[in-house]
Amino acid sequence: MTDRLTGRLVIATHNPGKLAEFRDLTAPFGLDVISAGELNLPEPEETGTSFEENAALKALAAARASGLDALADDSGLCVEALGGEPGIYSARWAGSDKNFARAMRNVEEQLAAKGATSEAARRAYFVAVLCLAHPDGSTELFRGEAHGTLVWPPRGTKGFGYDPMFRPDGHDETFGEMVAERKHGWRQGGDALSHRARAFKLFAETKLGAE
Ligand code: IMP
Repeated sequence: MTDRLTGRLVIATHNPGKLAEFRDLTAPFGLDVISAGELNLPEPEETGTSFEENAALKALAAARASGLDALADDSGLCVEALGGEPGIYSARWAGSDKNFARAMRNVEEQLAAKGATSEAARRAYFVAVLCLAHPDGSTELFRGEAHGTLVWPPRGTKGFGYDPMFRPDGHDETFGEMVAERKHGWRQGGDALSHRARAFKLFAETKLGAE
C-alpha cells in the first residue's frame, strides 16, 4: 500500500520516551495520534529474532486489537565488537527494573574484556525499524540507523536508555547531552540524526506526503 495515511494512528508503544519522540515527529502532519497505553492495549511479547519481526508483531497486535492503523518501532543498540549485541535484547539487558546504568556498565565491561579502548574498537549503531500495520493484516517496514562511538563514562541526563554512552558521528555531544530537538527532531527537507528520526523520515516521505 502506498496511499497516504490520514486520520487516527495508534502508536504501539508503552515506552514514554519513545511516545514523546513520536508525538513530536507526527505533530506537523495533523494525524490524530493515540498510544497503545491510552487504549489499554496489551503489550505483546517480543518473540521475533530481528528488529523487523518484533516491530511487525507489535504493530499488528495493536492494529488488530484497535481496528486502526498502528505504528510500532523496535529498536536497539548494536555494538560491533560484541557481534551486534545487545541488539534486539537492548531493553532486556536493563532487567525488569529498567536499570540502564547497569546495562551500560555491562556493555562497558564486555568492551573492556575485549580490550576495546580505541575509538575504532568502540563502534556502535542504533537501529530503529518502524512497522505500519493495517487492520487487514498488511504491513510496511521502514528502517533507520545512527552510527557512532561508545564513550565511558556516560555523559548527559537528557535522553533515555543507552543515550549517555553514544556519541553520534560528526558530533561532540552524546545523545544524552543533546536537547531532544537536536537528537530526534526532523523537519521536511532537512536531515535526521537519530535512528528513529531517520526511520520516521522514510515513513513520512512514503505515507504522509513529506518531501
Ligand atoms: P524496544 O524497541 O522497546 O524493544 O527497546 C529498545 C531498547 O533499546 C530501549 O529500551 C533502549 O534501551 C534502547 N534504545 C532504543 N532507542 C534508543 C535511543 O534512542 N536511545 C537510547 N536507547 C535506545
